[in-house]
Parts: sequence; C-alpha cells; structure tokens
Amino acid sequence: MTNTTSPIIFDGHNDFLLRFYRNSLTITAALEGTDTGQMDLPRAKAGGFGGGFYALYVPGDLGNEARSSFEGKMNQPTYDIPLPEEVEWNDAIKVVLSEVATFKKLEKAGFLTGCTSTKDILAAFEHGVIAGVLHMEGAEAIDADFATLEVLYAAGLRSIGPVWSRPTQFGHGVPFRYPSTGDTGPGLTELGKKLVTECNRLGIMLDVSHLNEKGFDDLAAITNAPIVATHSNAHAICPHARNLTDRQLAVIAESDGMVGLNFAVAFLRPDGQQDVNMDIELMLRHLDHLMETLGENRVGLGSDFDGADIPETIKDLSGLTRLREAMRQHGYSEDLMAKLCHGNWIRVLKKTWKEM
Ligand code: ZN
Repeated sequence: MTNTTSPIIFDGHNDFLLRFYRNSLTITAALEGTDTGQMDLPRAKAGGFGGGFYALYVPGDLGNEARSSFEGKMNQPTYDIPLPEEVEWNDAIKVVLSEVATFKKLEKAGFLTGCTSTKDILAAFEHGVIAGVLHMEGAEAIDADFATLEVLYAAGLRSIGPVWSRPTQFGHGVPFRYPSTGDTGPGLTELGKKLVTECNRLGIMLDVSHLNEKGFDDLAAITNAPIVATHSNAHAICPHARNLTDRQLAVIAESDGMVGLNFAVAFLRPDGQQDVNMDIELMLRHLDHLMETLGENRVGLGSDFDGADIPETIKDLSGLTRLREAMRQHGYSEDLMAKLCHGNWIRVLKKTWKEM
C-alpha cells in the first residue's frame, strides 16, 4: 500500500525564517496555519514534510522591502538581474542573530526540533516533529577571524553557502542570468578558501548552490567533504546560470556528494521563465537527468519553499503529496522514492558531519 504523505520528505532548502524577519509571520500563525507563504505546521503535516535546512539569509534591502527584488523580473526571454550591493558584517550579524532567535523560539513552541546529527533527524521523524537544521545562505555574518563561525556552530549551524549570489569577502556568486553558464567571474577569495578549511574542520556542510563555476572549482579543489548543492537543477535542461552543468555534476559525483532539486520554476523551465503554470513532469525530467549523471544515491529535494515561485500544482508544502504521486506514476520504485525523499540526505550528512 502506498500513501501520498510518505516517504517523509527531508528538504535541502527553505527561506521560512526570513518571513519572520520581514514581520510577515508570527509563531502562533506558523503553528495554527495561515493562507500566506508556503510553509506552516498544518501544511507540513498535510504534505508529509519531515524537515530540512532552514536558511539564515540576509536580504539585500535588510528587510525594508516587502518581498524579493526578483519578483516578476525573470519573465523576459533573456535576463540578467543586477545583484544587490555587498552587505557589511555588522548589518548582517544583526539579521542572522534575529533569525537564529526565531529558530530557537520555533523549537520552544514545538514547531520543530533543532538537529545537529542524523540521529537527531531520524528521532524527529519518529516523533512526528519537523527536523530543522540551521543553514547559512551567504556568509556575510561570518567575520575574518571566524569567531562568529565558532559561536554559530555552537548554536547549531551545520551548513554554509559561502555566498548567496551577491559577493562576500569569501567569494563571488552566480547571477540570476538566463541563458548563461555559471562561468561568470572570479571564484573564492583567499579568505573563502580558509572558510572551506574551517568548515571541514568543524564538520559544517558546504553548499555550492549559489557559487559561480570558478568558486565551485576552487571549493572542489580544497574540500575533504562530499560536495553538496542544496537547491540547484540541471543546466542541460534549463540553461540558467544558477544550474549545474554535466561537468559540475561529475565533480559532485566524484566527491560522493549530492544535489537537491530546486522547485523554483525559473530554474526548472527550459525557457527560464518565472511562470508557475508548468507541467510537474518537468521536475521528473530534472530528477532523471540528475540521476543519470550522479547516480540514484546522490539526488534529493531542495524545494526553496518560501523563497521562490514554485509550480502551481505544488503551490505549498501540502502539495508534496502531488509530487510523490507524480514520482510514482513516472515509475520510481518505493526504494528509490525513499532515497530521493530523505535517504540520500541522511547518507551524505552522516559523512559530512563525520559520524562515520
Ligand atoms: Zn538560494
């Protein structure tokens, strides 16, 4: 017997915490449910959502705008959206501390359990509580002496993307450009290379999702951990700068890392358009391509819930049931479903967090 809410889904990326920073969500509304955004507790239960990475992200406008500056801009036949200015450490750290505080409040309120090991994640699945792992998307809040890295690690941080797309002192990111390869500029700085070593030492996962190709190669040359793209898709299907070429996928496979499928329509659709009217079948084409190049043990999900425009048929967390249905109709076995929904994340995190 199959069930549309299982296997439970562990997910590579969401921007849920940003909604609190923008004052568009309260803890009570998150627990009771709301008709805004894509994530809350009732919809998590309805969709069989087991948890994932919760991003600490500093908006370029430092929270002064209601929504991302990307809204509706990725709808020209070709585009290259200007990136926001660099953010200073003393601005970034305030935003990040506020988001960590929200995460801790969500934990106290019973919305999620903060996890720092795969044992924690599996126990949360068992208890029916969302498993939350703290991730930093863009390392603006990390100082050059890595004191904040040490402190945030102690607070539960277990994954870092050295850059979101705008530049940081650690490196340069990939722009929101279509069509384009990810080969768009210089890669990691010397300090960025040091950050990779520090993260390896602590057992913090490194996320290449927003790095450009040069930064990706710089990281790959240094890291001793599996290379992970938490929320990226196949460039062979959608030639967006944010997506990964077959060459990059081969490097990830070589490192025994993985890729989480991003639900953002602009990174799924071959035409790169921010149009949510899209056949769910296209998500399966990306999954198939990722599995062809990475193997079926190195692919998972990385939705970008609360951070992107996603297919209308999925709409929010409750729509994960429709994704499972589509995966089964496409012929994926139950064994493969379990790997894609959470098993591969657990496998890679065990290695990355040095549990084996
Ligand atoms: Zn992102």
